[in-house]
Amino acid sequence: VKKYGYQPCVNIGTAGHVDHGKTTLIQALTGVWTSAHSEELKRGITIKVGYADAAFYKCKSCEVPLGYSVTPKCNNCGKESELSRVVSFVDSPGHESLMANMLSGSALIDGAMLLVAANEKVPQPQTKEHLLALQTLGIKQVVIVQNKVDLISYEQAMENYADIVKFVKGTSAAKAPIIPISAQSKLNIDALIGAIETSIPTPERDDKKDTVMHVLRSFDINKPGTKIKDIKGGVIGGSIIQGIFKAGDEIEIKPGLPNEKTGKYESIFTEIASLGTGAGIVKEVKAGGLIALATKLDPAMTRSDSLIGSVIGKPGTLPENSYNAKIEVNLFDTAVGSGEEIKVSAIQTGESLRLSLGTAPLLSKVTSVRGKTVELQFKRPVCIFENSKVAISRRISERWRLIGAGVSSG
Ligand code: GDP
Ligand code: MG
Repeated sequence: VKKYGYQPCVNIGTAGHVDHGKTTLIQALTGVWTSAHSEELKRGITIKVGYADAAFYKCKSCEVPLGYSVTPKCNNCGKESELSRVVSFVDSPGHESLMANMLSGSALIDGAMLLVAANEKVPQPQTKEHLLALQTLGIKQVVIVQNKVDLISYEQAMENYADIVKFVKGTSAAKAPIIPISAQSKLNIDALIGAIETSIPTPERDDKKDTVMHVLRSFDINKPGTKIKDIKGGVIGGSIIQGIFKAGDEIEIKPGLPNEKTGKYESIFTEIASLGTGAGIVKEVKAGGLIALATKLDPAMTRSDSLIGSVIGKPGTLPENSYNAKIEVNLFDTAVGSGEEIKVSAIQTGESLRLSLGTAPLLSKVTSVRGKTVELQFKRPVCIFENSKVAISRRISERWRLIGAGVSSG
């Protein structure tokens, strides 16, 4: 269905503790339940990063926020509304063991909705950890969503609101609007859209720079038993952060795959067969909302998210693969994410750390520490851009915990 004519222009993420209503809210805004994976449905939690698009409309006659809706007809007065913006939602899992997935999704977002269930004590562990992750990745455009207000009294809602204000004081979300809603009953969604429209503006993008796309998902879209002649090539989902892609463009995917004979990683080269967005098939895509590239690759190469964390550009324009990185690190005082807070000790040569670089979760070994400069070695090569933001996690009592932020240098 062609709902609107163009690519979504901004990616908005969800953040917040498991069960606080992230996936329900995305469904309220887009009509799509993003946890469609069978394992996710069984367990009732989002595991993989999900996504869905919505078009926001604004009524010409009604006052804001009453005139905001996700349909072209005004919910308030029934008149025809104008299209305000088309957005993509990136739905993160909230479970503590799925921080790597949350960080991969967050690498592509321009702003976030931080959900807080109003019927629970503030903050829950992943409410805190996700806010820290947003801060680490430099995502300052945040709308706080006080969800599930249908379950509590007005007085309890006000108390919970005061707790949220106290919790975000001194953080990057200190000035974020706090919007009370019920995602399940679709209450106050117009005010939420209004807050998103004012607090999460579409960033300036550069179409002229060399195209860079980060891969968040990859698929084999063929049903088992499809005849060879009908088989469709591998599909890759993600976002472009600069530049544009057109159907028919030659592309290079890094770090690529190991050569069967030499074991050395080699780029994957292919052609864009077609381009899709929430608006359907398009001729050209640019930086902004999520897109899908249909390629001419053997679909076995893109099956089950095998290319997550890869970087795509035009041939010869991406940085060389590297087995090492030098990172300027800022450690947090404490690691959050479990019930208790644990003091973060200095990084040691020889220890293992997990880096989240773009959409790639990477296991690494520390080879040297000089002040804030940490050098690391990876098991498989990575395609690293200079001055990229990096989230750093360490294994503390059986769980990976976010312990700091970094920036890649030469
Ligand atoms: P997620 O883990 O943050 O994605 O949370 P889900 O969207 O999966 O929701 C967790 C549970 O909370 C589900 O049973 C939802 O039906 C319920 N829920 C979500 N939003 C609301 C709400 O506004 N009010 C009430 N009463 N329940 C809600
Ligand atoms: Mg969910």
